[in-house]
Amino acid sequence: MIYYSEPLFRPPSEADNIILQITHGCSYNACTFCSMYETKVYEEKPLDEIYKDIDALARYYPNAHKIFLADGDALAMNGENLLKVLTYLHQKFKRLRRISSYASVINLEQKSQKELEELYKAGLKLIYFGIETASNELLKRIQKGTSFEKMKEALNKASCAGIKISATVILGVGGKKYSREHALKTAQLVNETSLNYLSTLQLGLQQTKEEVFYKKFDEPFEWLSDKEMLEEQLLFLENLHPNNAVIFRSNHASNAFALAGTLPKDKIRLIQELQYAIKDERVLTPTWLRGF
Ligand code: SF4
Repeated sequence: MIYYSEPLFRPPSEADNIILQITHGCSYNACTFCSMYETKVYEEKPLDEIYKDIDALARYYPNAHKIFLADGDALAMNGENLLKVLTYLHQKFKRLRRISSYASVINLEQKSQKELEELYKAGLKLIYFGIETASNELLKRIQKGTSFEKMKEALNKASCAGIKISATVILGVGGKKYSREHALKTAQLVNETSLNYLSTLQLGLQQTKEEVFYKKFDEPFEWLSDKEMLEEQLLFLENLHPNNAVIFRSNHASNAFALAGTLPKDKIRLIQELQYAIKDERVLTPTWLRGF
């Protein structure tokens, strides 16, 4: 029997995979737009409890190929303990091919290059990373606790260790005032790193976060309309020139318009689809069918 501490989140692409909770909450928990772990206090789960969960999961799913480590930034776990968890997982799941987790800049900064390489060799093959924006002005306002330069360094450190990166960007996070800067700086970060997967979702705020989010902007925050959101996405896409193949998705429940392709190969088609949606808003997903 496995006990999960709620709420429990996982990336959509991990829907069919095992979730192993090794930390609770988010070690940072201060981004103004994020309510995911606001009810939880961060803690590392004791190793003996994690081992018991692994034993139980291995009895139920001995042939599992992929395991996602929860919660919000499992990579915050002490490197030595994390290595023990990864090693134990491989002992118990003989067909395991991929272990993944959410990760933040701070987590990556706290691990040395050698530690990240060891974690990769021990099975950590993929991290999910919230870029949100790469504009320094906006990063301050959403209280992300990082900068363009730090994100670039951290992402390149993970790539150099062999770890694949799946990153997300939040459309509309700077409102009307910062839309252009958000699109251009974020595209620049993607171009100067080596992401493997990239997805865009649209800004959505839980009621509990509205006050703190708006307060960080000097002037009233002006939300982008659907059309403006797509125009921001178009500017972002037009300025993407990744050095490696990046699987691009814009199919989160929050998105007004779904896009899917591989960059740079499908860039022109994606741009054309977006231009079409900007001209004819009838192709957009109705608001009542969206979520975040
Ligand atoms: S966005 Fe990520 S780092 Fe920020 S509070 Fe939420 S879970 Fe933590």
